[in-house]
Amino acid sequence: MSEVKKIRVTVWNEFRHELKDEAVRRVYPDGIHRAIGEGLTGEIPVEVRYATLDQDEDHGLSQEVLDNTDVLIWWGHMAHKDVSDAVVDRVQARVLAGMGLIVLHSGHKSKILMRLLGTSCNLRWREAGERERIWVIEPAHPIAKDLPEYFELPHTEMYGERFDIPTPLQTVFITWYQGGEVFRSGVTYERGTGRIFYFAPGHETFPIFYDANIRKVIANAVQWAAPRIDRDFSICPMVPPLEDLGQAE
Ligand code: ZN
Repeated sequence: MSEVKKIRVTVWNEFRHELKDEAVRRVYPDGIHRAIGEGLTGEIPVEVRYATLDQDEDHGLSQEVLDNTDVLIWWGHMAHKDVSDAVVDRVQARVLAGMGLIVLHSGHKSKILMRLLGTSCNLRWREAGERERIWVIEPAHPIAKDLPEYFELPHTEMYGERFDIPTPLQTVFITWYQGGEVFRSGVTYERGTGRIFYFAPGHETFPIFYDANIRKVIANAVQWAAPRIDRDFSICPMVPPLEDLGQAE
């Protein structure tokens, strides 16, 4: 029996809240990235590595790391502006060439997501610890595999419409919040040959990345976003004709 090919996942985390804020450290003592990575390892065949903003000048995302990443997961919040444009360029090029990208929660305002989507990605928000009910509206989508019709998080940050994003390829989840708002909480895109999934839950003071349904969504998304082809479309070549064009007049 041939060995199952593992998906190479890099979990990127800003990793500043956990070091500065006791309330966040209590929930994620080893960092949000570790909770996300541990959630994956029980679910699907993956090889997980971690990268963080202050790790080095590349934020842990050198060309070599990205070239060996099938799916990049992104969590950032308070320091989007500190991510270097050179790294954003590099990640964008890899997505266009087929790398999967999963952007979580407050990553909606990350440079890389706004670059790839081309809109402000603004939304309305409220931090009141209210209940969230996530409806699966595309049950046949691979990202919704093995999920119930809906599931709930007891305490969450509200992200409401309008969410200033381009019309998604598919809207897999819609959330209802206790306060009355709704939100397109799980949306997909393709850019170049790369697949992108944005998923809204994941505020740093709530234990959302330990939730079994949330872990299933992220694991499903990793499998969906894994590259399907390996071909370079970054050049714009002049080519000879396939048929004889005859003598030019
Ligand atoms: Zn948040």
